[in-house]
Amino acid sequence: MPDFDIVILGGGSGGYACALRASQLGQSVALIEKGRLGGTCLHRGCIPTKALLHAAEVADATRESEDFGVRAVFEGIDMKKVNDYRDGVVGRLYKGLQGLVKSRNVTYVEGEGRLTSPHTVTVDGTEYHGKNVVLATGSYARTLPGLEIGGRIMTSDQALTLDYVPERVIVLGGGVIGVEFASVWKSFGADVTIIEALPRLVPAEDESISKAFERAYRKRKINFTTGVRFQSATQDDSGVHVTLENGETLDADLLLVAVGRGPVTSGLGFEEAGVAMDRGWVLVDDRLHTNVPGVFAVGDITPGLQLAHRGFQQGIFVAEEIGGLHPRVISDADIPRVTYSEPEVGSVGLTEAQAREQYGDDVSVYEYNLGGNGKSQILATSGFIKLVQRKDGPVVGIHMIGSRIGEQIGEAQLIVNWEAYPEDVAALVHAHPTQNEAMGEAHLALAGKPLHAHA
Ligand SMILES: Cc1cc2nc3c(=O)[nH]c(=O)nc-3n(C[C@H](O)[C@H](O)[C@H](O)COP(=O)(O)OP(=O)(O)OC[C@H]3O[C@@H](n4cnc5c(N)ncnc54)[C@H](O)[C@@H]3O)c2cc1C
Repeated sequence: MPDFDIVILGGGSGGYACALRASQLGQSVALIEKGRLGGTCLHRGCIPTKALLHAAEVADATRESEDFGVRAVFEGIDMKKVNDYRDGVVGRLYKGLQGLVKSRNVTYVEGEGRLTSPHTVTVDGTEYHGKNVVLATGSYARTLPGLEIGGRIMTSDQALTLDYVPERVIVLGGGVIGVEFASVWKSFGADVTIIEALPRLVPAEDESISKAFERAYRKRKINFTTGVRFQSATQDDSGVHVTLENGETLDADLLLVAVGRGPVTSGLGFEEAGVAMDRGWVLVDDRLHTNVPGVFAVGDITPGLQLAHRGFQQGIFVAEEIGGLHPRVISDADIPRVTYSEPEVGSVGLTEAQAREQYGDDVSVYEYNLGGNGKSQILATSGFIKLVQRKDGPVVGIHMIGSRIGEQIGEAQLIVNWEAYPEDVAALVHAHPTQNEAMGEAHLALAGKPLHAHA
C-alpha cells in the first residue's frame, strides 16, 4: 500500500493547488484524478467560457467598428474556428499544468478514487494511504426536478460542445453562468431570453449593480423575465417549448439550464468514513478540517462560493495548515467575484444591504460614474464603481460594472482585504488614462477631495 503525507482526491483547482503547495513544502503527495487534470475550471468552466467571451468581444467590436472609424464587415461566426481557438487555449494550459505537476514530484494517479477508510483512497483495487486526506471532487451542473438534460435541453457542459450558433436560446437562471452564456450567444447573433426566479439578474450582487446590469442587457436586446418561476419544458423536432408558472410560454432552439451546481460526493464513501455532510456538501470548519481528524475538504464540495480562485486558495491553505504554517483564514465575503459578460461585474466584500445589516446607519456609500473616466469613454463603456465604507472606517465593499471592469478586481480585493481607508487609497497614484484610475477617483471622492467627479 503506497504511503503519502497527503492523498488528494480530485485534480481540479482545489486539489491541484493543494498538491503543488504541499510538494513545495516537502510533503509526499498523491493526486488522484478520474478525468483531466485541471478539472471543471480548465476544461468545462472558467477558461473555455472566457475564450468564447473574447471571441464575442471581437464580434461586437467588428459590428461596431464604424463608430470608431474603422471599416470592417461582420460576416458571421465560424463556430468551428471559435472552438479551435478555445481548444488551443485550453490545450496549452493543460499541457503546462501537466508539466508543472510532473516537475513537482507529485504522484499523479489516473482513475476513479473512493474513500475506503478515513485515511485510504482506493483506485482500481490499489489503496493509497495518507497521513492526511484532502477531498476535492468538485461539482456538477444541477437541473430542476422533472427537467431532464438531453437533446435540446442542456447544461454548460453540452453548451460548450456546440458546433453551431443557435438562432433562439432560452437560458434558465440569471446567475453568473447563465448571463455569461447569454452574453456570448447574443454577441454571436442569437436571440436570447433569460428566465430568473429571483427578482433580479445577478441576484447575489449589490442591488444597484443588478439594476445597471439589467439596463445594459435591455440595451443589448437580451430578453429576460425575473421573479417568475419555470414550470415545465418539452422538446420536439421544431424546438424546445418552455412554460412559466405565470402561464407564459416560450419557444427556442435550445434551453440552457444554469440553475446552480451541486457537490460531487455521492457514492464516494465519505459518509461511510464518518465525514459529516449536509445534503451532499462536505462540512468543514473555517480551517477546512472536516469532523474526521486528518481529513480536509476544499473547493466546490464545501458550502459557499463556487469559484476557482477560492479552490486555489483553499488548496494552498490546507497544504500550509498540514505543514504547520498556520495560514490566515479568508472568509467568503473577502473573496473577489467577477461576472464575465458584456458588461462585466466585479465585486468584493459586503454589498450595501449587507453592510447596513451589519453596521446599521454607520455606513457611507459612494458611486463613481465611469462617465468621468477617460479610458471608459475611449472604450465607449458606461458603468460605475460603488464603494461601501464603514463610516469613518475602512472600505468594506467594492462593486463595479462596465466593459472590462473585472480587471480592476485586483486592487479592489487588496483594498477590502487590507482594510484600507479611503484616505489610504486616495494617497496612491493611479495611472492615467486607465480604467483603474476610476478606482483612485472613487476613493479621492470618498476621502472628500474629488478630482474628476462632483462631490
Ligand atoms: C461554465 C462555468 C464557468 C465558470 N467560470 C468561472 C470563472 O470564470 N471563474 C471562477 O473562479 N470560477 C468559474 N467557474 C467555477 C469553477 O470552475 C469551479 O469553482 C472550480 O472548478 C472548482 O474547483 P474544484 O477543485 O472544487 O472542483 P473541480 O474543478 O470540479 O475538480 C474536481 C475534480 O475531481 C475529479 N473527481 C471527482 N470525483 C472523483 C473521483 N471519485 N476520483 C477521482 N477524481 C474525481 C473530477 O474529475 C474533477 O477533475 C465556472 C464553472 C462553470 C461550470
